[in-house]
Amino acid sequence: MEFDYVVVGAGAAGCVVASRLAADPRRTVLLAEAGGRPRSPFISIPKGFYYILRGDRYLYRYPAGAGEVWLRGKVLGGSAAVNGMMWIRGAPADWDGLNLPGWGWADIGPAYQAIEREIGVSTPPATEITGAVLSSAASYGWAVTADFNSRDTERIGLTPSSIVSGKRVTSYSTMIRSAEKRPNLAVAARTPVASLVFDGRRVRGVRVRGGGEIRARKEVIVCAGAIETPLLLERSGIGHPDTVRRAGAVPVAESPNVGERLIEQRGLSLQVRLDRGPGITPARQAAAAVRYAATRRGLLATGGYDLVCQFKSRPDIGRPDVQGLFAPLALDTSSEVMKPARHPGILFMGYPIRPETASSVHSSGPDPGDPPVIDARYLETASDRDSAAPVLDIARAVLRQGPLADRVLVEEFPGPSVGTPEKAVEYSRDYGSGIYHGVGSAAMGPDGADVTDPRLRVRGVTGLRVADASVLPSQVSGNTAAPAMAVGWRAADFILEEY
Ligand SMILES: Cc1cc2nc3c(=O)[nH]c(=O)nc-3n(C[C@H](O)[C@H](O)[C@H](O)COP(=O)(O)OP(=O)(O)OC[C@H]3O[C@@H](n4cnc5c(N)ncnc54)[C@H](O)[C@@H]3O)c2cc1C
Repeated sequence: MEFDYVVVGAGAAGCVVASRLAADPRRTVLLAEAGGRPRSPFISIPKGFYYILRGDRYLYRYPAGAGEVWLRGKVLGGSAAVNGMMWIRGAPADWDGLNLPGWGWADIGPAYQAIEREIGVSTPPATEITGAVLSSAASYGWAVTADFNSRDTERIGLTPSSIVSGKRVTSYSTMIRSAEKRPNLAVAARTPVASLVFDGRRVRGVRVRGGGEIRARKEVIVCAGAIETPLLLERSGIGHPDTVRRAGAVPVAESPNVGERLIEQRGLSLQVRLDRGPGITPARQAAAAVRYAATRRGLLATGGYDLVCQFKSRPDIGRPDVQGLFAPLALDTSSEVMKPARHPGILFMGYPIRPETASSVHSSGPDPGDPPVIDARYLETASDRDSAAPVLDIARAVLRQGPLADRVLVEEFPGPSVGTPEKAVEYSRDYGSGIYHGVGSAAMGPDGADVTDPRLRVRGVTGLRVADASVLPSQVSGNTAAPAMAVGWRAADFILEEY
């Protein structure tokens, strides 16, 4: 089999790349995806992701040390098919701050305009509880905004979400599914790519698990995500030579930063019980299911967290360094699995948005199923600790304002034992959670040691690009699905300019 382009990974970025390359019928494109088709209705029902995340069918579960597990989507749509659907573009200042040609806000803003014409973005309707949080936050001093993505100051708003008419939308569902009948686009689900195939240092195609080879006349574009992309490069001979050999491969191009510089965010959670309001009782869940079936509205039609805010951990910094999320529900603290409680409450999660501490991820063997070696690291710089330390106290201060002041009965977790900045940092380290937003494990940059150049061409070889979250050298203040799609868009721009 031979195509002009082989795109590896049908996730957030890969679907954008494949869709744009296949827009011209003269170009042939293969989109190879390790996972299967998104057949479960719980993928398109927004609240269904609580169920999807309990199972294995659509997920990679990576052990990341200390009992922690990092998740990623393994399905057409990638992690964007299992994620919380928050649509946060990142701050223009961060895109400009990358200081890389082709990646400033002047380039990314238009990419988002084009992407958002295809991916619909909506906000959830306000409810009694989210309205109360907004009022309390306004009393605390944050601006309440109708368009969260439009500014970079301290603010709170209903969460922009990739949900249209009550259904999750992804770059697969909007850009690829309808294009699958085109003769020039082949979508191969359940097709894990084991390694790249070289002619000297030129990439000629891919080898899929089980042995078959697929040739790429022009390029292979690796869009396997921030965990799998470095593993595939290492299995193919690109990386630190020792790691490449450990992966069972012969070194082709020395690239010491493959799998290094992985920047993940770390969340701290807090939950309060409210005096009144709707809890998530079985009766309410049943009513919500009926309502959703009839109208595509209600509790099941909204994403993970209804409200998003960004704020400064301390007043003397120029712009927000923490993102916070509020959900108008409590979790059942007696349950081993993630499950909503029957009583009313508010769940808060906050995380520094531009951490510096780097983790790493490396291959342990030649098969795509060999588990990665992840060294998950957090809070190792003073700046990271300074951003994390006040997060819980700021959330508590918001909940003490306005209409919520009299309604909070008790802080269910972490509680008063985590009452000092030092304790908050400890809590974040010991009980915090990775947010599944890793970037940087195949980062672009101007230096010879950066894995790709700013046009996303992998250094040391030809015929190969990386286009996914792994190329972002730093976090751009927020979540990563929208930025990954923007990366895919820019990758297609570069390829189309060159051929
Ligand atoms: C549970 C969860 C919740 C999240 N919540 C949010 C949120 O609310 N908002 C937000 O913006 N971000 C969120 N994220 C993060 C966001 O979804 C990801 O950062 C984003 O999807 C990354 O895009 P990507 O294209 O780099 O990789 P992915 O979207 O992960 O796509 C990679 C694809 O490549 C495939 N693949 C991997 N290896 C191979 C191989 N060898 N051969 C073939 N195919 C392969 C994978 O199966 C996958 O489909 C969340 C992530 C998770 C896991």
